[in-house]
Amino acid sequence: MKTIKKLMKLIWEKMPLKSLRLRIFSIVLFIGIVPGIVVGVGIVQNYQDRAVKQRISSVQNQLMIVANHLIANDYMANYQSEEPTYRNSREVTDAELEMLANLYEGRVMIINSNFKVVKDTYSISEGKIIISEEVIKCFLGENISHYDPEHGYIEMTVPIMDTTANSTQGGAVRGVMLISISDGSIVAMTTLLNRRVVIIETLLALGIVLLAIVLSVVMTRPFDRITQAIMDVNSGYTDESISVPDYAETVHIVDAFNQLLRRMRTLDESRQEFVANVSHELKTPMTSIKVLADSLLMQQDTPAELYREFLEDIVSEIDRENRIITDLLALVKMDKRTQDKNIVSLNINDLAELILKRLRPIARKKDVELVFESMRPVTAEVDEVRMTLIMTNLVENAIKYNKEHGWVKVELDADHQFFTFKVSDSGIGIPEEALDHICERFYRVDKSHSREIGGTGLGLAITKSAVLMHRGTLTVNSVEGEGTCFLVKIPLNYIVT
Ligand code: ADP
Repeated sequence: MKTIKKLMKLIWEKMPLKSLRLRIFSIVLFIGIVPGIVVGVGIVQNYQDRAVKQRISSVQNQLMIVANHLIANDYMANYQSEEPTYRNSREVTDAELEMLANLYEGRVMIINSNFKVVKDTYSISEGKIIISEEVIKCFLGENISHYDPEHGYIEMTVPIMDTTANSTQGGAVRGVMLISISDGSIVAMTTLLNRRVVIIETLLALGIVLLAIVLSVVMTRPFDRITQAIMDVNSGYTDESISVPDYAETVHIVDAFNQLLRRMRTLDESRQEFVANVSHELKTPMTSIKVLADSLLMQQDTPAELYREFLEDIVSEIDRENRIITDLLALVKMDKRTQDKNIVSLNINDLAELILKRLRPIARKKDVELVFESMRPVTAEVDEVRMTLIMTNLVENAIKYNKEHGWVKVELDADHQFFTFKVSDSGIGIPEEALDHICERFYRVDKSHSREIGGTGLGLAITKSAVLMHRGTLTVNSVEGEGTCFLVKIPLNYIVT
């Protein structure tokens, strides 16, 4: 059973019928030719049936008249009588039968009630007994007719009825006429008609084949156009949106392709922008280092303190370069959607406390008060490294972009589905027009300020990416000059997609 299924699948895959062009061709051919053949055969068959029926009924009519004569002359009883009256009338009837037989190119036999042949126009079977099904049925009053188209003759029986007799007096059927006649020109006509039908059908089939070829080519041409347009885009010949408005279906395909094209272009542009930004960001510390080193080299008899000062500056620029590279690597890791996610059930309270403990010295240095408020114990399925990045970046930013004697409040809460991690500060705030951009790579509201305090412009991009990986949301509210509030909402149970 399995091998049959496999074989069918293989045939289906290899079958040229998978081609739409061939399918249209076959369907048009089938719809065009099959009804033609059926109608043709029907016409010939109908003609033949009607012609046979007509011939049978005309012969039967004439034989009925003869049958009446046979009854009137009492032919069956006196078929051997030599009495002049009977002989004369018998001769007249015989002549009538011969004439009929000649007219229809056939043979007439008269059988009496003892199943004996009393007259045969071929004079072969006279005196013989015929007990056949047809004859018996005819004695019971049933007319039988049968056409043999192969040999071209019609066989039938006609009862010789005595209309004056009463069926109680031994039955009204006195004898049976068994006739076999040629079908005349029916076979010849049928053959002729058949030939004509074949000629017409062949011509029709040729026309339909032509129509099927034209239709299959014309109807599939839009798909060729789509393929050509896609190939043009692919080979870089054009980067315009493509348009094939021939069918609703082609419009849908083309729309989907154009959407994909737009997405790819946006991705390409953002990739280029990213590369430009990365180069620029990495170049800045290098330029500073070069300027510092050059000025040291150019000065002669430089005092040792100046050397030290410049070297300290160079070290801080190298640190900065290092930070950018570390952040870039973190971002790339996040973007790669790699399987290196390590989702574990984690106590979020403990994690938050640990991170705050690490950041407290920085806060103290900036004279910023750091408060942690946990509403309830929270355990969630998260990636520890990414969750650490989220919390560290947000709290670090809140400390970095704060005012002197400011505060940072970290709140942890949960419901039955999500946990929330909220970081509010009394810092410088974010201008409204910048809110939509702060999660972009290398975006900084105040570039020089951010650089001064060691920002790379990648922290929130990393945070957002990590939140999305947990199928969570990151929202921000801020009033310039008053403070900012970041809210992270993450499902307690990791959603596998
Ligand atoms: P950076 O490394 O420069 O801090 P981020 O991606 O972490 O980069 O943040 C982007 C920008 O958003 C920062 O340069 C800063 O201007 C602004 N920003 C982030 N967090 C805060 C905050 N808590 N208060 C004020 N501004 C912030």
